[in-house]
Amino acid sequence: MNSYSLQPHFCKLRENCGLFAVYNHPQASYLTYLGLYALQHRGEESAGIISYNGKEFFIHKELGHVADVFNEDILNKLKGESAIGHVRYSTYGSTNIENAQPLLVKCAQGAIAIAHNGNLVNALQLRKELESQGAIFQTTTDSEIILHLIAHSSHGNLLDSLIEALKRVKGAYCFLLMDENSIIAARDPYGFKPLCLGRIKDAFVVSSESCALDLIEAEFLREIEPGEVVVINENGLKSVKPFPKPFHLAQCIFEHIYFSRPDSVIFGENVHVVRERLGKKLVEEYPVNADVIVPVPDSGTSCAIGFSKASGIPIDLGIIRNHYVGRTFIQPSQIIRDFNVRIKFNLIRDVLKNKKVVIVDDSIVRGTTSQKRVRELRKAGAKEVHMRISCPPHKFPCFYGIDFPTKEELIANRFSSLDEIRKFLDVDSLGYLSREGMLSCVKAFSPEDYCTACFDGNYPVPFGEEKNKFEAELNSRKVRRC
Ligand code: SF4
Repeated sequence: MNSYSLQPHFCKLRENCGLFAVYNHPQASYLTYLGLYALQHRGEESAGIISYNGKEFFIHKELGHVADVFNEDILNKLKGESAIGHVRYSTYGSTNIENAQPLLVKCAQGAIAIAHNGNLVNALQLRKELESQGAIFQTTTDSEIILHLIAHSSHGNLLDSLIEALKRVKGAYCFLLMDENSIIAARDPYGFKPLCLGRIKDAFVVSSESCALDLIEAEFLREIEPGEVVVINENGLKSVKPFPKPFHLAQCIFEHIYFSRPDSVIFGENVHVVRERLGKKLVEEYPVNADVIVPVPDSGTSCAIGFSKASGIPIDLGIIRNHYVGRTFIQPSQIIRDFNVRIKFNLIRDVLKNKKVVIVDDSIVRGTTSQKRVRELRKAGAKEVHMRISCPPHKFPCFYGIDFPTKEELIANRFSSLDEIRKFLDVDSLGYLSREGMLSCVKAFSPEDYCTACFDGNYPVPFGEEKNKFEAELNSRKVRRC
């Protein structure tokens, strides 16, 4: 009998959640379903919606993709004119249905639904404190900590209780909350994660990315500002900014490089436009004499277009992505192990044969997938293979909600020089965009207003014992993967 293992697809870093909400629309749950569909790339492990019809809350969440978790029957049962939805990968907390969001609880202030994107760096400390006061946790998610803090609040309304709770947490977050009267959206004062506001007729919409507003033909109103809490209820929209402003923002630069969809506007700019600039900058820093530019789809495509425009080298589709591969797949363990790189990508030999090829990608994480891809390109007849990466080498883990392998597993830590990485990947030349070059491509804010901690180790929000918990989690995953 063959042995099989369920392997996480871990050649890329992963965003951990997507949020979507609708207030005051007769088809709130349908619109939320569509919104989550557009945000699927932000979380493929579980999906959930909670709706409210003025009397009752309705909930459905399951492990799996949005299209598999919901069907017409289920959406018809999610009644009401308000809904919040969530798609999730896990960073902290294992992949199980208890940790799927949104969460729904009943406390002294009535029923509250919550969904969260990000990672709190003082979660462990708060959890211990709450447990010592008698709190019982049903999940391992950070969202439940906020619910307990709200439940402990002496304020009589959700907004004031939430603000009191948020004053106690540190780290990266966007929250959506819904009670019987309102939907509340909050973004942390550093603005790590994107969150925007839209409108469709008389209904308000909140989304992690603007691409989800486009899908439902909602008008993009604006981004929710760092440190802003927006309350949407029968009186319309109210904005409060109850937190002190940090010296600098810390918007995740990797949202622009990889996580967000190219058709989204985040941190004041369109993602595709920023990626094109990254490609142009790469030509300035690492010019190359080649016959064809080949993007690694999909996130490398915009950058490769910029590279082609600036260098004059034609761009072509040499690598084709199979869009039907999920996050995990059954990997036959022995004889055909190397097939896994071809499960997700196939090559077009006619584009590659006897050509000097430039591969443009957004990052190299552990390097094993890139190495296999280069091997395949050479087998397909590429005469030379050059690799260009639209950010600096990743050397440090993220503590703000991005799923990383351990520090030791990152290729940039396994080798001491660029040339050693080049030799490992077996490419003719290798160029990573510099930190300064990368930051020169984002124009809406000053360079200091972006988080670059996974490249330079300068963490904008300090963490304590959470770091140990995080590293233990990474190490346990490393063991599971072997
Ligand atoms: S450490 Fe990297 S991935 Fe994490 S928030 Fe900062 S820039 Fe984004």
